[in-house]
Amino acid sequence: MKSNNTFRIALFPGDGIGDEITEPTRMLLDDVAARVGGFAFDWQSCAAGAAHYREHGTALPEEAMRTAQDADAILLAAMGLPEVRYPDGREIAPQLELRFELGLYAGVRPVKPVPGVRPILADPRAHDIDYVIIRESVEGLFAPDAPGSIDEHEARETLLFTRDNCEKLFDFCFRLAGERGGQRKVTSVDKSNVFPAFGFWRDIFYERAKGFADVRADHCYVDAFAMVMVQKPWTIDVAVTENMFGDILSDLGAALMGGLGYAPSADIGDDHAVFQPCHGSAPDIAGKGLANPTAMILSAAMMLEWLGMRHDSGEAGIAASALRRAVDDAFADRQLVTCELGGDAGTAAVFAAVKDSLARVDV
Ligand code: ATP
Repeated sequence: MKSNNTFRIALFPGDGIGDEITEPTRMLLDDVAARVGGFAFDWQSCAAGAAHYREHGTALPEEAMRTAQDADAILLAAMGLPEVRYPDGREIAPQLELRFELGLYAGVRPVKPVPGVRPILADPRAHDIDYVIIRESVEGLFAPDAPGSIDEHEARETLLFTRDNCEKLFDFCFRLAGERGGQRKVTSVDKSNVFPAFGFWRDIFYERAKGFADVRADHCYVDAFAMVMVQKPWTIDVAVTENMFGDILSDLGAALMGGLGYAPSADIGDDHAVFQPCHGSAPDIAGKGLANPTAMILSAAMMLEWLGMRHDSGEAGIAASALRRAVDDAFADRQLVTCELGGDAGTAAVFAAVKDSLARVDV
């Protein structure tokens, strides 16, 4: 952090709906900083993504990478366009490069519906669910150091877990469950009944659990866990899972909150963090003003909270709560119904409502 309580933020609008949701979120963050006082932002805009690759031949320029490395936090909207690909057919995904380069091993995916949004699950006990899926984010089936192979006869992919990374990841989860102060429980979501690699994962999980006496450890197979997320989600507190499983389960979590436009996330490492909504660039609705920006705003609130803890800034923590409250208040009377839920509230309407309630929130 700069000496004058200014957080340097690398800002990646990216592709598709990214542009539409980035600038208004930046303005909300400036608003909340001005309301709370005591800190400010130094915004550093970074060009990267699929459109950038199409025009300049590089998806994540070195300069953007350096800016990200030097920043206090990274706020990223969405990257990738289905029709823009590397010569080998892979989609352009600089957000994955950032995860690998910056060692962002913990993908934090809260599942906590906004109270005024129409509930998806019928059981009233599911209406105030509040749990976190931790998606391991640098190894598993996405591990860049374990490429697969493909020839005429067969295709292989590699699933990689390293002891070092598992230990850091599980410690992160047990600490988080302790800090949340809820059920104080971490569930390993794996497939150790079929794959020995998950046996290795689970052994390390229970080894690390011994260091956190105030937090319970348990486990669940991934297929059964998908059912738990629908049938009795109130039993979940913190759940940690492999990269690919986490990719899938966090979309299920987003759906249970009302859609991808409501699901924030953070990719956190020892020294850096990227805050980014769970959704992609949504090219099917880009440019139409239909994107729900709530996930982006809530990701920005997660960034404020993380900055507050990391830099011991009470003001940033207060700003995080104020922004969350502004979102809750904007939806509270159930009149604001986003397009993805069949309503008519597009991007501008949601921003206007949150801005309005932010002006009225006590800080
Ligand atoms: P990625 O693989 O890059 O995460 P994806 O293939 O999962 O992307 P998205 O771009 O997230 O795809 O879009 C999936 C669907 O969700 C699309 O129909 C899109 O319009 C919708 N969607 C995504 N984000 C939003 C949003 N913020 N508001 C409304 N709808 C959204």
